[in-house]
Amino acid sequence: MKKLLFTLCALLISLPALAATAWQNIVQPISGSPQSIGGFSNGCIVGAQPLPLDAANYQVMRQDQRRYFGHPDLILFIQRLSSQVSHLGLGEVLIGDMGMAAGGRFSSGHASHQSGLDVDIWLQLPKTRWTSQMLLKPQPLDLVSTDDRNVVARHWKPEIDSLIKLAAKDNEVTRIFVNPAIKKQLCADAGVDRDWLRKVRPWFAHRAHMHVRLRCPPESLECEEQAAPPPGDGCGAELQSWFEPKKPGSGAPVKREPPPLPPSCQSLLDKHLL
Ligand SMILES: [Zn+2]
Repeated sequence: MKKLLFTLCALLISLPALAATAWQNIVQPISGSPQSIGGFSNGCIVGAQPLPLDAANYQVMRQDQRRYFGHPDLILFIQRLSSQVSHLGLGEVLIGDMGMAAGGRFSSGHASHQSGLDVDIWLQLPKTRWTSQMLLKPQPLDLVSTDDRNVVARHWKPEIDSLIKLAAKDNEVTRIFVNPAIKKQLCADAGVDRDWLRKVRPWFAHRAHMHVRLRCPPESLECEEQAAPPPGDGCGAELQSWFEPKKPGSGAPVKREPPPLPPSCQSLLDKHLL
């Protein structure tokens, strides 16, 4: 299952990389009451809002890419998390990609982030605010050792643990993707309070950021929810399987077209690109 997902994920990233997607031509949100439509990896959004770029508790990177739109619930989550982090004096929250103005497929970099409910938050919490030059060309901090098995001890800080835990404890959050080595560290550091670990899912890459996903907003009737993660803290055999060697011949790429868009997204695209 994991390998299939990886293959799908790689294809979804590589296929549209051939050209800009039509969604990139929609530069302003589609007006209307907020609706996340379709799946996280095949969807769009009406009534997205831009994350306020000038904020006391967080900073938005690569603003020139205009990937700072999302469902109002996502904006509220970022503001809520950042204010908790600031209140605890953990450092400055660095916000990476959210979604495009109408959501939809990116030409590169992401398979998901399509329905306005995903955000990448970097796993570093600088003590001072970054300059606008630093925000335009941010330097990721690779938290994972070169053998992919552990976090780099000198980069791993309790604040990062706290940041991920705060996000996972948010009621609106359903999943957080991090590198397996990061999940392993979180498992080792957690004491008896472990329920939140269920939402933290090991995934490829994600060495310098976490990817946070919110549940479908109740009024978004065409939003497709993912099944809940398996029960338990996910620190056992499933996590261990990520550190086992791959079987030869597994994960061979299969040519596959992206799935058809949800009808509401297709009609929205047709209307706005006339
Ligand atoms: Zn992401």
